[in-house]
Amino acid sequence: MAADRRIVIENCAIATVDADGTEYASGHLVLAGNRIETLGAGPAPGGLGDVARRIDATGHLATPGLVNTHHHFYQWITRGLATDHNLFDWLVALYPTWARIDEPMVRAAARGSLAMMARGGVTTAMDHHYVFPRGSGDLSAGIVTAARDMGVRFTLARGSMDRGEKDGGLPPDFAVESLDDALAATEETVRRYHDASFGAMTQVAVAPCSPFSVSTDLMREGAELARRLGVRLHTHGSETVEEEKFCHELFGMGPTDYFASTGWLGEDVWMAHCVHMNDSDIAAFARTGTGVAHCPSSNARLAAGIARVPDMLAAGVPVGLGVDGTASNESGELHTELRNALLVNRLGAHREAALTARQALRLGTHGGARVLGRAGEIGSLEPGKLADLVLWRMDTLAHASIADPVTALVLGAAAPVTASFVDGRQIVENGRLLTADEDEMARTTRAEARRLSRITAEA
Ligand SMILES: [Zn+2]
Repeated sequence: MAADRRIVIENCAIATVDADGTEYASGHLVLAGNRIETLGAGPAPGGLGDVARRIDATGHLATPGLVNTHHHFYQWITRGLATDHNLFDWLVALYPTWARIDEPMVRAAARGSLAMMARGGVTTAMDHHYVFPRGSGDLSAGIVTAARDMGVRFTLARGSMDRGEKDGGLPPDFAVESLDDALAATEETVRRYHDASFGAMTQVAVAPCSPFSVSTDLMREGAELARRLGVRLHTHGSETVEEEKFCHELFGMGPTDYFASTGWLGEDVWMAHCVHMNDSDIAAFARTGTGVAHCPSSNARLAAGIARVPDMLAAGVPVGLGVDGTASNESGELHTELRNALLVNRLGAHREAALTARQALRLGTHGGARVLGRAGEIGSLEPGKLADLVLWRMDTLAHASIADPVTALVLGAAAPVTASFVDGRQIVENGRLLTADEDEMARTTRAEARRLSRITAEA
């Protein structure tokens, strides 16, 4: 590793989120190249050789960077619509707008979504993109380029829909692809962008949208394609009572049994939501290692219900956190989901025993890394892992009177991000992105949102 890129961070509290939950009240981290070289209590040891930069992080908490496991970037330009709907009514209201997106809109929305997350401590993002209108341009290229430009580690979940209304699905027929087109385009996206190496900045997953918008053939063949190419599988599952009813009517079984019958349970699979799961569904996820992206704000916004996260964790199911698309979670932030995961689950059956602040932080970091299949690279602060980390400022009015920094981070106001590093490179300083112009993005996303609204109104 190049000694001239060594960065020393000292005098901060550190929550490593390693297997033992090791924490330091005041400690140091040494970054070398794109890796964490050492960390521990007290000041950094002497004799480190050339140190390019020394950061006095007094008053800060260092944590692993947050890992987002479910999102739809394009929705950044359709926020604040259909605000009092359940999932199915909300989808039906928005499909006609979404079916008119094009490449400049998707690129602008991806930049907005990524920027909003990155400035709030996200270092690994994902985008489940499943709307590909005919003639809309190279949407995947726009999304991948946006993530690369911003310097955020990224998984593109190449989505698809092929079950339109005429086949009993929810989306209008003009919003879906054919089975063959969806599979071919997904394979091409994997071949173009998926990097399987340690420290990859871009990965691709195969991601048909949901049981109510995808044919059984696409579910089955999508799973086969992912396994042939050696990439992960992602979809929406068990989100609402309406979806459960849909599955029983169309397939004669609940969502989890349907996923099992189409090859969609396994340690290479993660699913968004998983709200309506009975004990045997949770046992099936645990037995197969199937992961869950818990999206508490979106589930509340769409009145979906409360996912049984404490039961999933007790059974050994891998669970991470997700923002979900910003048409159902307008904030677009992940750090607020740490708190919302805790609060929402305490409204459920386990009440005050539901989740601790430290479990919430683990969901947003190591849990997310596990769900994305990257727990060996990111998600905790340990020597040899990638240098993806955040310095949260804890000495201002908002947090200074809370003694425990993890409690302050999870239960307090959204903490300011003084610095965020991805792959050893700093991308945020004092809450502002170093890799993109936020004011320019605000103008562009507003213009693209207006253009989409105008095109939809004229159609
Ligand atoms: Zn979603």
